Amino acid sequence: MFDLRDLAALIQREPRDVLSVILDVDPTKPENQTSNPAYRIWTHSAFSRLQETVPEAARGTAEESARRVLAHLTSGQPHGEGVAIYAAPDLWRVYTLPTSVPNRMAYGRPDLLPVLWASRKYQPYLVVIVDRKHAQIAVVDGDTVREAAESTLDLNTAEWRFESGPVTATRQTGVRISRSMQADSFEAKMDERIREFWLETARRLGPIADGEHADLVVISASPQAGGVVLNHLAAPLQGRVVGIEPLYDHVSLHEVRERTLPLALARRRELQAEGVAAVLSGAAASARGVNGRERTLTALLEGEVQILLAGRDLDGDVRECGRCGYTTADEADHCAACGGAMTVEPIRQVLPVLARTHGAELRVLDPDVGSGLTGELGGLTRYTVAAPAESQSE
Ligand SMILES: [Zn+2]
Repeated sequence: MFDLRDLAALIQREPRDVLSVILDVDPTKPENQTSNPAYRIWTHSAFSRLQETVPEAARGTAEESARRVLAHLTSGQPHGEGVAIYAAPDLWRVYTLPTSVPNRMAYGRPDLLPVLWASRKYQPYLVVIVDRKHAQIAVVDGDTVREAAESTLDLNTAEWRFESGPVTATRQTGVRISRSMQADSFEAKMDERIREFWLETARRLGPIADGEHADLVVISASPQAGGVVLNHLAAPLQGRVVGIEPLYDHVSLHEVRERTLPLALARRRELQAEGVAAVLSGAAASARGVNGRERTLTALLEGEVQILLAGRDLDGDVRECGRCGYTTADEADHCAACGGAMTVEPIRQVLPVLARTHGAELRVLDPDVGSGLTGELGGLTRYTVAAPAESQSE
């Protein structure tokens, strides 16, 4: 759904002349169904307010970008429930979001938090539907779903009968025994072939998950088939199975998505909450967690943060040194590092580039999960070996 290389280029982009427009375009909302939908009215008035904060020299190009955005919104109902548009004289990107997000507009560095949030929350996941003779692997990617692989067990039972010899009908009692023994071995052979089929299905999942950048798997099968598939998944994937659902029989791919998406979203929410809990317990034990804006920014600038956690709807400003890039939540006029002049920057537009520059992975959380962190910002720091004297002497 999202080209992450594209996002990386946006994060690092200079100059800071991007108009970001994030809109709730949910077509089921009555206010978006009128001839002049609410998101267009909002864009118009939000730009009038924003324009006053844009540096005078850049107002012409900002206005040109706003005109392009409005023209795009007039050309037809946008796809999806949310949309994020990034516009500059040499830039035009439109990201469809599978869920609605609050309206936002910004100028300068791109405001990428809603897209980064959606790219993780709606990351592709796999659904494997498997019974005794048929296996189907589907990829749910944002608001789309498609088949990635399909296979049918070809049981050549005619051949088995030939191998085990024809049943001869005689009146001897021994025949009944041998007939039942043959039935047993037939059943056993059949069960074995079916089990192999399930193992093969499990083996196919790993490469498909890698290729599709899928992070989760939902298994739809009988408890027996589901158990075999689960037990034979490669280790990293095995830990990412959301659950074994009952077998979806005669269910369209669209319905497969409808049934499984809530499970995937709930699992990702749990994973987010686990991250927040790890920050809080780590911060309390002064171990691997940093909580709150000032502590987290300090650790981030020192390269200590491995995973940076931020709420999607994070707001507020930081001060950034125009000379050395030092960034702080303090209201300082001059840089503590070099004495340079500080400018006021929205924290949400600064975070992605800071994370990138200082080697942290930015994970954008659901708003109500992110609010568990002080100031909706925290981080998990790298594990450091506690022997500073020795490591310095080397
Ligand atoms: Zn500085």
